[in-house]
Amino acid sequence: MMFTEASLLDVWEAAHGLGALRRALALAVAGGAEPAEVGDLAVGRRDEFLLALRERCFGTAFPCLVSCPSCGEELELELSSRDLRPSQVDACAVVAVDGYEVEFRAVTSRDLLEVHSRRTLLERCVVTARLGDQEVERSELPDAVLGALPDALAAGDPQADVRIDLDCAVCGHRWASPFDIAVYLWTELEACARRLLYDVHALALAYGWSEAEVLAVSPGRRRRYLELAGTMA
Ligand SMILES: [Zn+2]
Repeated sequence: MMFTEASLLDVWEAAHGLGALRRALALAVAGGAEPAEVGDLAVGRRDEFLLALRERCFGTAFPCLVSCPSCGEELELELSSRDLRPSQVDACAVVAVDGYEVEFRAVTSRDLLEVHSRRTLLERCVVTARLGDQEVERSELPDAVLGALPDALAAGDPQADVRIDLDCAVCGHRWASPFDIAVYLWTELEACARRLLYDVHALALAYGWSEAEVLAVSPGRRRRYLELAGTMA
């Protein structure tokens, strides 16, 4: 089911004024995530709900404008939801470094909200750690061992850091461009809300209609009324 313009404005209003992280959580809830659980989802799992919301609001085609980092050429491309859903998130994974064997889980939004140092964040993701037969406290893990976690985390939760392989038609440069669904969707929602609120404002002024009355008129007819109201002024 597609979102109505009125419910899109509700989503925008609920997420408006929040910091980036809490906004992503609010959008995930609008996309169907459980409010009580969304903070504890792996970031990649959370972002699947943002993708679902985006599809319901604006469809499955994602137009993008990217600058080539080598020659600066602006490339227009259209991604599809399929490009943006890599593989599934692993609940837990194991990394072996310098004789240590560390079992860890993916980063959640709650981790990012509550933790402000990189070392603490990585420690929090450690489920168990061993050196040979010996269990090791996470606080006692050497930096070099924890330092191996970010790459392993990215491999275990690819949806948390989506990268699109691109090549420049002008200079042939190839690179992997990051794609952040939370930023992308919020930019679209803000632009859409601004347009809708302008329509409501202009048509309320011209005809005395309420917000609900303006939104009940189809976008095509609304454009025409706006033109007529403009010629009236
Ligand atoms: Zn280029």
